[in-house]
Amino acid sequence: SKEEVRSLRQTFLNPAIMHHFKDPVMIVEGKQQYLYDETGRRFLDAFAGIVTVSVGHCHPKVLKAIEDQNKLLQHTTTIYLNPQIAQYAKELTDRMPGNLKVAYFVNSGSEANDLAVLMARLHTGNYDLVALRNCYHGLSETTMGMMGNSGWKQPVPCGMGVRHALNPDPYRGAFGNDGPRYAEDVRDLIQSATCGQVAAFCAETIQGVGGAVPLADGYLPAVYEMVREAGGVTIADEVQSGFGRTGSNYWGFQNQGVQPDIVTMAKGIGNGLPLAAVVTTPEIARSLATRSHLNTFGGNPVCCAGGRAVLQAIDEDGCQDNSAKVGGYMKGRLEELKQRHDVIGDVRGLGLMLGIEMVKDCTSKAPAVAETAQQDADFLVDALDTALCEL
Ligand code: PMP
Repeated sequence: SKEEVRSLRQTFLNPAIMHHFKDPVMIVEGKQQYLYDETGRRFLDAFAGIVTVSVGHCHPKVLKAIEDQNKLLQHTTTIYLNPQIAQYAKELTDRMPGNLKVAYFVNSGSEANDLAVLMARLHTGNYDLVALRNCYHGLSETTMGMMGNSGWKQPVPCGMGVRHALNPDPYRGAFGNDGPRYAEDVRDLIQSATCGQVAAFCAETIQGVGGAVPLADGYLPAVYEMVREAGGVTIADEVQSGFGRTGSNYWGFQNQGVQPDIVTMAKGIGNGLPLAAVVTTPEIARSLATRSHLNTFGGNPVCCAGGRAVLQAIDEDGCQDNSAKVGGYMKGRLEELKQRHDVIGDVRGLGLMLGIEMVKDCTSKAPAVAETAQQDADFLVDALDTALCEL
């Protein structure tokens, strides 16, 4: 029963493992955009498993690919040739612009960002990193050090060499939507807090955990130029914003018109499978190859088969078009809601990576903490229900 599960979890799982509800929802099944609890009650999964389920729960193509591969071979190691990983690397990098043609498969977003930072440091011979306040790149030691939100940090030393730049947040930032003005802070930071040379600048192209915060217009082009002048490479964390989630562009960085040197991806890449990747140029990739480097599970045949099916499903099911269409419609309806409710301070995001920010009032923009935590914000739930039914 649910009570038994709850008790087992409380006793045997680390209490840090979070759940969001006072009376936790138990989920036992998922199909397309819906989740079901143990009583058969259906929920619309607007969170998509922390922005992970990119083609729908238990997508038949993904299931079949995993099942077929499971029967054939679950695991060996990358020391042997296997068709899945090689084909997958080609199919994934075919979807990347420019010279981003070399993949390294790992198991989580944190691992992908760790590896990207390592490659950037090895390639440039520099150490300092510039990250954004309010960013989230993972919870490993390096990525926790890059964290731009104290609520996710633990009081241990981590993140040597990480510098945090002003967040180019169009809603809360001092310069509104003027990206190049925020970028000047990166120039200052490089000049004042580093030796003038950096290894990398890393940013999500829409901040996910930080609250669906898009970067101010023109920010990334200006920063990428400064960072390259300072000998650094640019890392785009596409863990949430990749794979068509933002609509008409496959990658979030394309919305800012930039070409990163390293791209990290996880979550939507595997529709829930433990799969992640770092994709970069042949030149940067080589920097890692002067010594041994291995990931035991990364690129295992089952996850690669699933990842290939996800790419296929995104194309064949028209997920990008759907994200643009449904996301555009939802955003319009949320903006209408904002007109009617003072508690909604901002509606933002692109495609199906949307967020609303709740505030005490639109002038002070003071966070409406209690209202946001309220689980039965009826007006919101009803309005979303109506909007979706009308679609
Ligand atoms: N980058 C971003 C943008 C993320 O949202 C997350 C996870 N929320 C991560 C990295 C870390 O991914 P993981 O939890 O798979 O380590």
